[in-house]
Amino acid sequence: MKEVRTRFAPSPTGFLHVGGIRTALFAWLVARQADGQFILRIEDTDKVREVEGSAAHIIKCLSTLGINYDEGPDKEGAYGPYLQSERLEIYQEWAQKLIEQGRAYADPYTPEQLTEFREEAKATKKAFLYRNHRPENPPQWQPGMPLRFKSEPKAYKWQDAVMGDLATGPEVVDDIVLIKSDGYPTYNFAHIVDDAEMKITHLIRGQEFLSSQPTYLNIYEALGLERPVFATMPHILAETGGKKLGKRDGAKDVLDYIKDGYIAEALVNFIASLGWNDGTEQEIFSVDELIAKFSLDRVQRSGARFDTRRLLWMNGQHIRALPLDNLLERAAPFWSESALKADASKRKEILALVQDRLKTLTDLPILSSYFFETPDPDWNMIQDNKQLKKLELDQIQQLLSATRNALAQINADEFTPEQIQNTLNTLLETTGEKPGILLSLIRLSVSWAPFSPALPDTLATLGQTSSIDRIDSSIAALSVS
Ligand code: GLU
Repeated sequence: MKEVRTRFAPSPTGFLHVGGIRTALFAWLVARQADGQFILRIEDTDKVREVEGSAAHIIKCLSTLGINYDEGPDKEGAYGPYLQSERLEIYQEWAQKLIEQGRAYADPYTPEQLTEFREEAKATKKAFLYRNHRPENPPQWQPGMPLRFKSEPKAYKWQDAVMGDLATGPEVVDDIVLIKSDGYPTYNFAHIVDDAEMKITHLIRGQEFLSSQPTYLNIYEALGLERPVFATMPHILAETGGKKLGKRDGAKDVLDYIKDGYIAEALVNFIASLGWNDGTEQEIFSVDELIAKFSLDRVQRSGARFDTRRLLWMNGQHIRALPLDNLLERAAPFWSESALKADASKRKEILALVQDRLKTLTDLPILSSYFFETPDPDWNMIQDNKQLKKLELDQIQQLLSATRNALAQINADEFTPEQIQNTLNTLLETTGEKPGILLSLIRLSVSWAPFSPALPDTLATLGQTSSIDRIDSSIAALSVS
């Protein structure tokens, strides 16, 4: 059996969007599952569209997500270089082969002439085919002239690992440009040469190339190349409506998701689920599970919807599953200033407490800063709470006073979550208040934060003195409000 070799071949034309990352991820999963090789090739032959810094950005995104490659521009391998702009001689040699076989010719037309041909076809309502205008005696090919493929149109049938059996007629096979007048190859030519040279076994890419596939098959034949396995990815659709996901639909740069507190494992899981599932109800997958379970034939053909809420949920699940020390490292850039002034051991203790409630790491300050600094009472939070806003001021005062007295009765060395829970249960009985009201009120009076961990844990972590002081301050603030 041939060694499986897959590749990701992005053009450095801007930030790497989710669709690009998904193609990379699926190609990587196929390679890793088969103990094969994954190659990164930067397709920088369109100098007009190139955006400076994007190759470095792509590399950073892949490494952030853990999509490691075995060969690439900065990772030597047997089939380099892996930057297309450094392979121009290789394309020239392969082009020469086609010229010698009479399967490529110099394109003598000016862009204006080509526009005329196009317009003629339009006027007569015919599909434009360059091959209908093949020059009878093309000039000798020289630098500065485009080189075209001389196609041999025919019908094709082929199998796509995702899209299934596909078939087209000869009318879609045309004479495409192989080398442009600036001396760079087109994507159409370069990727075929490179995939062959780099011994790629599975070609996994987006749908935009599907319509050119018959012409590519014609080129494979002209060059005597074996076809790789083809796998065409379904579109990723925007959250609403049926259209393709675009930058305006909230599809952010992958590195921005990391800055926004998403973790790589969750992004990988989420991106893998865009168009793939393992046939069960399982939604949360570790990377190792994805490697074990992924298969191209379970990639769906229809578009996959990008669902930010699902990503958020998955992120929370993956944060929960992280070992505490690992989470502590990742949380480092997200702590509030007051937390950073505290002892590292205190941060770790608080992180353990809030871990289950973090949806993104950016929730960390709001979920934890009241452990590190005394919050100012904010009565709007009571007013904004459907249940609490119904309480009269003196009711609030009574409930809070009863709470501080009950908490004060706990022995100092028994101020544990269990003991606090017992005290709270008794308070619920004696006050006859609903938990939704009493516990929310106590929670707010010590944290003044929209969310916090379970109340007994919160109070135990704050400590008896601080819990009581905070409730006292809230009562004092109440009487002046
Ligand atoms: N350079 C092409 C792109 O970025 C790659 C397509 C392919 O994977 O062959 O769209």
